[in-house]
Amino acid sequence: MTHRSPLAQKLHLDTRLVHDGQLRSPFGETSEALFLTQGFIYDTAESAEARFLNEEPGYSYTRYSNPTTTMFEERMASLEGAETGRATATGMAAVTAAMMGQVKAGDHVVAARALFGSCRWVVEDLLPRFGVGCTLVDGSNLDEWRQAVTPATKAFLLETPSNPSLEIIDIAAVAEIAHAAGATLTVDNVFATPLFQRPLALGADCVVYSATKHIDGQGRCLGGIILASVDFIETHVQQFLRMTGPSISPFNAWVLLKGLETLPIRVERQTATAGFLADYLAGHDKVARLTYPGRADHPQADLIARQMTGGSTMLALEVENGRAGAFRFLNALALIRISNNLGDAKSLVTHPATTTHQRFTEEQRAEMGIRDGLVRLSIGLEHRDDLMADLERALAEV
Ligand SMILES: *Cc1c(COP(=O)(O)O)cnc(C)c1O
Repeated sequence: MTHRSPLAQKLHLDTRLVHDGQLRSPFGETSEALFLTQGFIYDTAESAEARFLNEEPGYSYTRYSNPTTTMFEERMASLEGAETGRATATGMAAVTAAMMGQVKAGDHVVAARALFGSCRWVVEDLLPRFGVGCTLVDGSNLDEWRQAVTPATKAFLLETPSNPSLEIIDIAAVAEIAHAAGATLTVDNVFATPLFQRPLALGADCVVYSATKHIDGQGRCLGGIILASVDFIETHVQQFLRMTGPSISPFNAWVLLKGLETLPIRVERQTATAGFLADYLAGHDKVARLTYPGRADHPQADLIARQMTGGSTMLALEVENGRAGAFRFLNALALIRISNNLGDAKSLVTHPATTTHQRFTEEQRAEMGIRDGLVRLSIGLEHRDDLMADLERALAEV
């Protein structure tokens, strides 16, 4: 069995995404094996006892760990530059475990207001049921983070670029505020992808992904992962995951593991196309506003230059004529399909105000920068000229 190559640190990322973490069975298979098994057998009763005492290495039950899942975790840890990682059934299972694992009744959490809808529900609705306080702040306003801290604050949570308005939060500055308060910072890094932003290197303590998005990237299966130091995982996450059981299916871990091999070429192509389309849309007379982290006219371009190395596969645009204009635009698109998903090989479009962020009041949406004409585009792997033609046709309907 081979773990990370001893040369790992010297190899380029693309190479590590093809090789790292592979556990080869005695059959010497080329491709990573799928260990679709619930459990494992022991040669002797003594061995079973030793394995349960953690005195003997090996697997015992897939709720705890599985070789295919380990391969996915190791490859993700190598990509992220994390000491270790734990895969979960979904991105939400990762966020929930990372946050709940850190707190108990009486503690307090601070989170950016512009979070993915379900993440916001976890901190704003779920944690308070168990006596954990929560304060939501405007993530780009550092004073609000500072002022939200109480003696009970244990954990911060943010997402950048934010969904769907693509606002940027200064990870290094927020990490410093968290650490000064004796708290940790967890970053949901889905929109940037692990290729364009390294929250741990910027000072975050924990990174979470919905692997459902770019890591699969082909719309097949759900998954999530928590990446952090061994100490963070052992203190906050390990026991929570083992005992509550939001485990990933080894089949899904295998699909995601193979997805990592092509992650750089997919994300680089999708990002190049997104940049091309952003330039086209920014000059279009039916587009009131175009936000793309890869453009020099992004309001936080300086911060983006400091913490991101690529623009992202996502665009946010505001069409003329509010909700009516947005609906005409969505309905006129033929190639780009209406879906709440993102990071897929297929380009997808969402109207956040009436779907993903429907449950918020108009005032709450305004605070998150979600106006009625706002449309979120996830750019896929189609040819850029075909996507541009589709957008041109649909914008004529606005
Ligand atoms: C999709 C998403 C999640 C949730 O992931 P699931 O795999 O759907 O559970 C969390 N955060 C962000 C930013 C997402 O885009």
